[in-house]
Formats: sequence, structure tokens, C-alpha cells
Amino acid sequence: MQVTVVGAGIAGVACARALAAGGATVRVLERAHVCGGRMATKRYDDRATDIGAGYFTVSSPRFSAVVDRWQESGLARPWTSTMAVRSPSGWGSTTGPQRWAAPDGLRSLVEDLADGLDVRTGHLVQWVDAGPRVDGVLTDAVVLAMPGPQAVRLIDPGLRPTAQAALGQAWLPSLVATLRFAERGWDFAGAFVNEHPVLTTLFDDGSRRGDGAPVLVAHTTAEFADRFVADATAADDDIEAAVRELLELPPAQSVNVHRWTFARPAEPGAAPFHYGQDRIGIAGDAWGSPKVETAWLSGTLLAEAILEDLS
Ligand SMILES: Cc1cc2nc3c(=O)[nH]c(=O)nc-3n(C[C@H](O)[C@H](O)[C@H](O)COP(=O)(O)OP(=O)(O)OC[C@H]3O[C@@H](n4cnc5c(N)ncnc54)[C@H](O)[C@@H]3O)c2cc1C
Repeated sequence: MQVTVVGAGIAGVACARALAAGGATVRVLERAHVCGGRMATKRYDDRATDIGAGYFTVSSPRFSAVVDRWQESGLARPWTSTMAVRSPSGWGSTTGPQRWAAPDGLRSLVEDLADGLDVRTGHLVQWVDAGPRVDGVLTDAVVLAMPGPQAVRLIDPGLRPTAQAALGQAWLPSLVATLRFAERGWDFAGAFVNEHPVLTTLFDDGSRRGDGAPVLVAHTTAEFADRFVADATAADDDIEAAVRELLELPPAQSVNVHRWTFARPAEPGAAPFHYGQDRIGIAGDAWGSPKVETAWLSGTLLAEAILEDLS
């Protein structure tokens, strides 16, 4: 059984791991130079910051077993269950599920799952057609572990049900700004910002990562991100102004902005993955509520379906 997985985010790597455990020969092709996808960690001012997912939560026993292993090895730690809430009427707070963080950044968790797998980074896949073939190379099954709009660029439109499954997803963008201040001027771990024209969430990255650095990470609304399609860096002044006004902070020492064109699906999907007679599967966080755990489960369940089909 030879399976090609395209995309080394958590869905693709979880899928590849489960396929390999089931006896398949798997290669993972990733266009970026690192694994992780939207569990992204980037260095600014010589310090690593989480610029994709803010944290992750755990509800299924299967994902819980993975997280237990990460916790035992020090890769993940419980972070907070309380988030501040800023609404037009003022500040409050909400207590919800345990949120988890990674001292070395969330990408380190995907790298851990990828350990021992045949992952080829810097490899942009261009075309998947009947066979199934990936850029002309025949394989027994293919997994596209990525947002639908990215998958649809690869799929031969003649493979109608698979192309339709990818086309059926609408996605929203977001900008993520990393703001370094001279000192910490806030007293929350994270904050949901409601009914704001620019901001949706703020994260204390120093608390999240455990080094106490005076660094805030701000996520924006899709509507605001849409104004900066051509140049995300042009949004830095507006985001800094919004954060400073909300928290009454002095100017930031540095602001770095990253754009996610496909940050989250507009609607949660009903099925956990797509897998068709063409033996091409699609997995990721659009197949359920858009979060890290959903992506892990989607990839894992798709692997099980492929193993059953191919055996
Ligand atoms: C701003 C933001 C905030 C978020 N906050 C949270 C949160 O607080 N909690 C939470 O649980 N989740 C959060 N998420 C969602 C979480 O990041 C995702 O659910 C999860 O990382 C999705 O993983 P994935 O593997 O499905 O997709 P991705 O991580 O997007 O992986 C897809 C991979 O495919 C690769 N790829 C695409 N096209 C090709 C190609 N042609 N050839 C080769 N490789 C290709 C990409 O480079 C990428 O590495 C957030 C996401 C964003 C962007």
C-alpha cells in the first residue's frame, strides 16, 4: 500500500502516522520548508511566537491520549481555562475548556508527530488526477490535507465528486499581528474581543509560551483582513492603534503582521473527511468544527478508511 499525503499540517501528519502504523508506505509532500501548517511558529526579534492557532483544546479520548504523551514529554502544557472578554459594554471574563499551549510553539507538536515519517518539505504539488496520480506519479491512494480552496487547485476537474467536496467549502481570512512592548501592561492570558471592527482575539504570548515576554498576539476579523489582500504589512498601524486603544498601552516596539488567506472555514462540515471511489481523500479542520483537534481526528479517521479500503 503506497499512499501520498499532500500537506504536513496536523491533519496530514496525523493521517500519515496512522497509515504508517497500519502498514502503508507513506510519503508526505509539503510545499513549505517546515511542517505545521496553521499551527505556525515564527521568529520575530529573535523569539519564537505562535502566529497561527492560539491554543488547542481536547475533548475526544483518542486525541487526549496524544496530548497526554506531549504533556509527559514537556512538549505541551495546560495553559488557561479563563479568557477575558471585551464587549462594547466593557471587560468581563469567561471560563471554558482547558486551553493547551506548547512552550516551543505549536509547530513543535506537529514536528513531534512527523518524527520518523518520510516528509518531503519544499515540495509543491501541482496536479492530482485519475489513477490516482500525484504530479504524474501513480500511487494507491492520495490524501489532500489542507483547506478546500487549496485542494481544489490541485484536483483534475474531471474527478467531479472530489472536486465538488473541495469546492463546497467557503473560507475566511485573518491577519495575525505580533506586538512587542517594552513591558507587560495587561493582566489576562487571552481575551476574546466581541463586536470590534478590527480585533477578534488577543493572546499574551509570554504567558502562553511561559517565558513572560511582553509580547501580545492579535487576531483580526475577516472583514478587516479583506482590506489588506495585497499587502498585510500595511495593516500594522491600524492593528497597533486598536490594541493600544483597548488596553491603554504605549507604542509597541515592533509589530509584525502575517496574513492567513484561509484561516478558518465559514461553516463547520458535517462529515469527518471526504473519500471517494477515485481513492482521493480530503481531510482537515473544515470537516467538523474548525480546530486543531478536529484536524487531527479528520486525518486519523481518513487513514483508517483508506487502510480498510486498500486491504
Ligand atoms: C489565525 C488562526 C487562529 C486559530 N486559532 C485556533 C485556536 O485557537 N484553536 C484551535 O484549535 N485551532 C485554531 N486554529 C485552527 C488550526 O490552526 C487548524 O484547525 C489546524 O492547524 C488545521 O490543520 P490542517 O492540517 O487541517 O491544515 P493546515 O495546517 O492548513 O495544513 C495544510 C498544509 O498543506 C500544505 N499545502 C497546501 N497546498 C499544498 C500543495 N499544493 N503542495 C504541498 N503542500 C501544500 C500547506 O503548506 C500546509 O502546511 C486557528 C487557525 C488560524 C489560522
